[in-house]
Amino acid sequence: MIDAQPTRPQQIRHVAVIGGGVSGLAAAHRLTELAPEIQFTLLEASERLGGALETIRREGFLIEGGADNFITTAPWALDLCRRIDFSEQLIQTNSNCRHAFVIRRGKLRPIPDGFVVMAPNKIWPIMTTSILSPFGKLRLACERFVRAGEIRDESVASFCRRRLGRETYERLVQPLIGGIYTGDPEKLSLRATMPRFAEMEEKHGSLSRAMSNARTPDDSSSGARYSLFVAPRDGMTSMVDAIAARLPAGSIQLNTKVAELAHTSSGWRVATADGEAFEYDAVILATPASVTARLVADTDRRLARELDGIHHTSCSIISLGFRRDQVAHPLDGFGVVAPHIENRSILSVSFSSLKYAGRAPDGSVLIRVFIGGGCQPELADLADDQLLDLATRELGELLGVRGAPQLTHVSRPGAVMPQYYVGHRDRVERIRERAGQLAGLFLAGNAFVGVGVPHCIHMGEQAAEHVVETLRGGAPRDASRNALSP
Ligand SMILES: Cc1cc2nc3c(=O)[nH]c(=O)nc-3n(C[C@H](O)[C@H](O)[C@H](O)COP(=O)(O)OP(=O)(O)OC[C@H]3O[C@@H](n4cnc5c(N)ncnc54)[C@H](O)[C@@H]3O)c2cc1C
Repeated sequence: MIDAQPTRPQQIRHVAVIGGGVSGLAAAHRLTELAPEIQFTLLEASERLGGALETIRREGFLIEGGADNFITTAPWALDLCRRIDFSEQLIQTNSNCRHAFVIRRGKLRPIPDGFVVMAPNKIWPIMTTSILSPFGKLRLACERFVRAGEIRDESVASFCRRRLGRETYERLVQPLIGGIYTGDPEKLSLRATMPRFAEMEEKHGSLSRAMSNARTPDDSSSGARYSLFVAPRDGMTSMVDAIAARLPAGSIQLNTKVAELAHTSSGWRVATADGEAFEYDAVILATPASVTARLVADTDRRLARELDGIHHTSCSIISLGFRRDQVAHPLDGFGVVAPHIENRSILSVSFSSLKYAGRAPDGSVLIRVFIGGGCQPELADLADDQLLDLATRELGELLGVRGAPQLTHVSRPGAVMPQYYVGHRDRVERIRERAGQLAGLFLAGNAFVGVGVPHCIHMGEQAAEHVVETLRGGAPRDASRNALSP
């Protein structure tokens, strides 16, 4: 841990934080907390802060254009909220109906109670579900007798088929992972994406045994463990604003796209697309990996190639407001995931106003439909009217929604969801080593060790801590220490 006291007076140091998403904001805030003597500028390309976090208020609806909540078991987001006096603003998911549905043969079926992403912790709900055939259930029940594997890095799909059987993978796990990571589990690395499940197999020999050894109060939720999530009452942008409000006046520059980065004898030269250039003692790059790759390409081509190898997917989010009486389905859950084998054009559906209070006016519901992702990337790029048509048609068939929506909104966060493919952890290690050779350069963002908001905050804060350590020490940074350290 770093001492929050500034050391002896010394020359003023300047840091550039590039990228004003939650990673860059967390880095900037940590610099403010730890080292008021260090000056920094947060350079953000667009006209707003938040990156993948954007809340839109329209006609009494509160619409999230990207993330709508964060998990509390990874502590960093909650910790930050406490430190900025924002905890009071956090609300929990509605305590009723904390489960989701999966589509089977065009109909919605509840995900069995206690089935958490890919681990069953209750046998009876699995045995009585109509999602799996008798053979699929039997195969799933045999999970505790399947020998632990020895594959060093395995895809989520391979792990899941090996342990739980093909049917459970296709009918339950693939749609859940597809919904959470907007990715293709055939390519995603288990150890990089969901290390918890690899550890369960390692320690307990089986997922079901691991779950029965660690029963939590969360037992009755299913799918995404909804009881562990919270959201800002007024939406994710209110959290972004609360962090930004803690930064020194004049430290944020919006509409400032960084175009070039050069390592100089005294630090880093940062040039913007407008042709301005400034010198900094250190730089935190909190940009998407493809942007980071472009910016470091002139300094270290191999580092740029490694960063460029991290694939990103995009999905579009179609938010639709309806009068409650337009929807035939009881909406007694938080959403729906669509297995790829069902051949639908949607990835998932979130019943936003059922999940969190205050998302729709009285008598109305807000539903978000996710289209695109790793398995159907081409769909994310359809025109707005085509996306709206697809979304309303699917909701008509699945939820019995009738008539025109009261409100429509299409969000396109872009290709901002990194995919941790098999081999990702080795790649991150190589990135860590190469970036560690570049004194004064620090990497943050969602491309490395976790895509969720808490991990992004953690990465940003770690980068800031290493900057402070380096600048206070005045010595060249030890290559083995950097923000990508586990
Ligand atoms: C649809 C969707 C739903 C999600 N849902 C959840 C969820 O419910 N819970 C959860 O925990 N996580 C969720 N996530 C993941 C999480 O929101 C993101 O991983 C996280 O917000 C990324 O933050 P970031 O700061 O690393 O990157 P970004 O938010 O992508 O920010 C990067 C910033 O860099 C800026 N930038 C880019 N190029 C330049 C440049 N050249 N110069 C200056 N600035 C530049 C961009 O404009 C942007 O503001 C979701 C993600 C998506 C896409």
